[in-house]
Amino acid sequence: MKLIIALMLLASCGTKTTTERIVLSGSQAQEPTQPIPGDPRQAVDIDDEFSLYTDEWLLLHPEGKPVTTPMSFTDIPEEGVLGVCITWIKGDIILKEIRIDEPSYREQMDLNPIGPHTIIFHELGHCELDRPHLDLLSQLEGKIIPFSIMFPSLFPRTALYKELEAHYLDELFGGPGTIPPVSRFESITKSRTMEKNGFVGIGILN
Ligand SMILES: [Zn+2]
Repeated sequence: MKLIIALMLLASCGTKTTTERIVLSGSQAQEPTQPIPGDPRQAVDIDDEFSLYTDEWLLLHPEGKPVTTPMSFTDIPEEGVLGVCITWIKGDIILKEIRIDEPSYREQMDLNPIGPHTIIFHELGHCELDRPHLDLLSQLEGKIIPFSIMFPSLFPRTALYKELEAHYLDELFGGPGTIPPVSRFESITKSRTMEKNGFVGIGILN
């Protein structure tokens, strides 16, 4: 029974769909040095509210790379979607941005002390590290938990994330992690495509 409840919690943020996975390697992404005509992004800077997490990211990144992806608040229309990493493409130009659903973010600040951190680091995993979702689960002390911060749904409210933070950060930045995966969860990855000013955007939701 415990297992079923845990899985329901993990699945509650996503609709079951299978979608094509779009992965761009880091070398393909180019940072524009001057304004791009028709830049389709909602913002070109990082909202000050995220500086706590981007500072932490810089300290933790194995090569000390700062966050360059613009990050802003928005209202994401898809129910239960907390954030999205969008890759915009037009010819040779590749632009990225992260949008965070503000109502969900505020709610997590009140409910879940690890919520904002895990949302931001998950989206940075997509946009800064080109990491796709990882649908693996682990088991610890009788509880089913995500193996990776790139699990495509919010972590259940638990102190276990804090206890295992070293594992999650190691795994996020390309290490093996310290807890083994025990099973694969049915994929709940969602994506959306959009067009603006001649750019085609592919967003990995959640
Ligand atoms: Zn995701």
